[in-house]
Amino acid sequence: MKDVFFIERDPYAPVRHCYTVSKVLYESKSEYQEIMVLETPEFGKLLVLDGVVQLDEKYEFMYHEFLAQVPMHAHPNPETVLIIGGGDGGTLREVLKHDCVKRAVLVDIDKEVIEVSKRFFPTLSSSFEDPRAIVINEDGYKYVQDCESEFDVIIVDSTDPVGFAHVLTTEEFFRFVHRALKEDGIFTAQTESIHYHLDMVVKIQKSLRKVFPIVDLFTSVVPIYAGYWWTYSIASKKHPVRQPAREVKVQTKIYSEEMHRYAFLPEGFYGRLIEGEFRL
Ligand code: SAM
Repeated sequence: MKDVFFIERDPYAPVRHCYTVSKVLYESKSEYQEIMVLETPEFGKLLVLDGVVQLDEKYEFMYHEFLAQVPMHAHPNPETVLIIGGGDGGTLREVLKHDCVKRAVLVDIDKEVIEVSKRFFPTLSSSFEDPRAIVINEDGYKYVQDCESEFDVIIVDSTDPVGFAHVLTTEEFFRFVHRALKEDGIFTAQTESIHYHLDMVVKIQKSLRKVFPIVDLFTSVVPIYAGYWWTYSIASKKHPVRQPAREVKVQTKIYSEEMHRYAFLPEGFYGRLIEGEFRL
């Protein structure tokens, strides 16, 4: 039998990954985006939105653990958490590993992504049934505007910053996030590739600095994302973020106290990158 390939249709990156596919398991068009689930021999199942691979079963932990565990451990006692996007459930799973969490609200604009994840990605969507989880289908930009001093941690796990996800990278949005956080709250967002999207990373970092007193950048390798070296912007009202504020007791595959520290770029390098003195 001939191999069948899927080539990503990513308008936002200069490279497109090509995957060997064994089966197309699901294909539809929701109100917001095209949704596909592909079976692959190497990566397990892939979730594809508008032609861009969002996650694979094999390496998703290398993204979700960093995105969620770094802010969750930088906070000494996160009880209320807001996730914007993240309809696959991977970030929610990581957040709800923490017994201190009393309530985790997930706001994804597209309810079909959640339904598809429940059907095809049980290891990611396992926490939707947790009684502490509240799922809302709304634009996260709109949702956060009605919140005040409500959350200890806010995490943005969105698609690339185009279309309806673009507003989640604006200074205006960060001001709403700041208001929605408690007085010692922490915010994190996935902010794309360190080299292909550096201009955007710098813009986001500079916007965050106008709003929060502590702003930083951490990274992890994500084998399925363009360029592999992925960034996460983090902003805090009070707590330092480069060290975990408490012992790592949750079960993880790659995140640890040591990985938390090493995820942050050396300060000199980080400074030069954001000030434009060095380009990758
Ligand atoms: N980890 C993935 C990545 O970086 O490629 C993100 C995966 S998650 C499936 C992305 C989710 O963000 C999608 O389900 C999409 O519906 C949601 N999303 C995008 N913009 C949104 C917005 N403005 N409000 C709420 N959810 C949004």
